[in-house]
Amino acid sequence: MEVKTSLLDNMIGVGDMVLIEPLSEDTFIENLKKRFDHNEIYTYIGSVVISMNPYKSLPIYTAEKVEEYRNRNFYELSPHILNIFSFKQDNDQCILITGESGAGKTEASKFVMSYVAAVCGKGQEVNKVKEQLLQSNPVLEAFGNAKTVKNDNSSRFGKYMDIEFDFKGDPLGGVISNYLLEKSRVVKQPRGERNFHIFYQLLSGASDDTLQKLKLDRDFSKYNYLSLDSATVNGLDDAASFRTVRNAMQIVGFMEDEVQSILELVAAVLKLGNIEFKPESRCNGYDESRVKDKNEMCELLGIEQSVLERAFSFRTVEAKMEKVSTTLNVAQAYYARDALAKNLYSRLFSWLVNRINESIKAQTKTRKKVMGVLDIYGFEIFEDNSFEQFIINYCNEKLQQIFIELTLREEQEEYVREDIEWTNIEYFNNAIICDLIENNKNGILAMLDEECLRPGTVTDETFLDKLNTMCAEHQHFESRQSKNSKFLTDHSLPHNCFRIQHYAGKVLYRAEGFVDKNNDLLYRDLSQAMYKANHSLIKILFPEGNPAKVNLKRPPTAGFQFRASVGTLMKNLLTKNPNYIRCIKPNDKKAAHIFTDSLVCHQVRYLGLLENVRVRRAGYAFRQAYDPCLERYKMLCKQTWPHWKGPLFFLEEKRSQCLEDLATLIQKIYRGCKCRTHFLLLKKSQVVV
Ligand code: ATP
Ligand code: MG
Repeated sequence: MEVKTSLLDNMIGVGDMVLIEPLSEDTFIENLKKRFDHNEIYTYIGSVVISMNPYKSLPIYTAEKVEEYRNRNFYELSPHILNIFSFKQDNDQCILITGESGAGKTEASKFVMSYVAAVCGKGQEVNKVKEQLLQSNPVLEAFGNAKTVKNDNSSRFGKYMDIEFDFKGDPLGGVISNYLLEKSRVVKQPRGERNFHIFYQLLSGASDDTLQKLKLDRDFSKYNYLSLDSATVNGLDDAASFRTVRNAMQIVGFMEDEVQSILELVAAVLKLGNIEFKPESRCNGYDESRVKDKNEMCELLGIEQSVLERAFSFRTVEAKMEKVSTTLNVAQAYYARDALAKNLYSRLFSWLVNRINESIKAQTKTRKKVMGVLDIYGFEIFEDNSFEQFIINYCNEKLQQIFIELTLREEQEEYVREDIEWTNIEYFNNAIICDLIENNKNGILAMLDEECLRPGTVTDETFLDKLNTMCAEHQHFESRQSKNSKFLTDHSLPHNCFRIQHYAGKVLYRAEGFVDKNNDLLYRDLSQAMYKANHSLIKILFPEGNPAKVNLKRPPTAGFQFRASVGTLMKNLLTKNPNYIRCIKPNDKKAAHIFTDSLVCHQVRYLGLLENVRVRRAGYAFRQAYDPCLERYKMLCKQTWPHWKGPLFFLEEKRSQCLEDLATLIQKIYRGCKCRTHFLLLKKSQVVV
């Protein structure tokens, strides 16, 4: 289908979807494709940026390009991610980067950060801050990203970074928040996937001397925790990455002995995975297990062999004044080992984030404004989906919710509020799915918590039973036993699974492991053994192992913590002016030049992009906030000129009178435009201010 364009070059399609004629799903996709074929990977919907992953490097992020975009008007140059926000705006901004796994979110967030670094001030101190902010990326990616079947560099944690600026627009520092690392990957990886990059980087890139000190062997196959079927990844040079990471750590401000400690813990995780257990029968009828061989992990971390071995053989349960010791059988010992490895690694990761924050935090308190960049793990559907996918997809639902609230719902409501003629545009509101998951009373997370805290035998089956009863009538929830008649005939659903119809597609979750992963228990004997280590870092990571600080209270569940931190994040984002980058994945092959229509179409649909264009077109596609408008047109109005910003101007009453007069004047110039509380609105046919 041919796309008719009114303003922009027909060959490369239309730069702003608002201008597309006629608007339909076909013309929308066709336009994206045309642009993609011409390496035009960015397209606007008003101020929203659509970004197509080119899967090849394009010369569009060079210093010259940055210079070109730096001071030019939004509408003068072809669409670019560099235009995502304007430094001139005085309020706090945030950039929400969304899209499924492999769509290009992390790359986009890095471009945004490099741009910020390139355009703001110079000078030794500022340069140091910028360099540290940028170099936090390779460190966090090494420890928090991994190869999955969807993406060779997939983020396995959520990241939100606030960059703080002073009144000149120079960066002062930053704060990073991290969200739930997918720690199950440490001990087991799905077929075709890898463990976190750092393990492979360390073994490939460290010097012989370093490896010897860490008692490590270069050979991946020596380690149970490293999957072998995809140990090397095309296009990834682990050895070179290791040097980059080491260098980045130094720039961020890690001391040599800190780096050594970190690497010791990475090595310890690998060694932990190699601990094996054998059964030891006892006359009292209980199965017991013993560690098979002497383990080098103890030497590495300064833990007495006998202390660790005991912690793997016995479990002490403390209740009030009583202490009861039970033995662990072989299966329980392996479970304890893996729990320790996962905890050790994820705590190390959180420690790294805190350590980086210490380095990059602003030294002065005179911050003027903040720019937040959110890059999370994208929506994902695998063959086998577990608790981790459930959490990741929930997080994506929440972001979609913010998008809907702010660009579809609020926008429409504001037209109505302002008495501007308006025909409602239908869209799918995913609030109902968020509620299914997070409702305090009968949401899936609340039910999971209830099950985890309930005394008696709790299993994944009892959890599933509970879900079935509670969610039976929910139209976005399906299970085999569900009373919801709509799905009763679906025998394809395995009995231990449930399915949620997410905004981005149906996902089948296997209930197995939900209770355990949500509980996230680590036997106290193990934290106490770690605390006894003669190793400064590991001691810090297991504070609850301090016998002087025994706390019998249960720690909050993983789901509870995640819901709370996502809630705080959402509140924070809502206080800022949001800017969106909606990333789209062009094909499933990680290949350049391939544009799979059906795949793109699916994403365009669930991202609600067409509705986004419709809302924008039906109303006033271009807008200018009053303040910059006033700045630009102050000389038109006797109230504001020549006494611009005179003493009277700061009186609230006076100020709004000025704005009103000026708005009326501007309305006369651009006939037919409207004024809202804060904006001057222009129809797409009108000249842009
Ligand atoms: P996940 O949710 O799994 O973390 P993601 O959306 O963060 O996925 P990225 O890691 O940013 O995805 O991108 C995946 C890969 O696609 C990158 O490693 C890179 O090879 C390629 N890519 C993405 N964006 C670009 C771009 N603008 N230019 C060139 N290549 C890109
Ligand atoms: Mg990513």
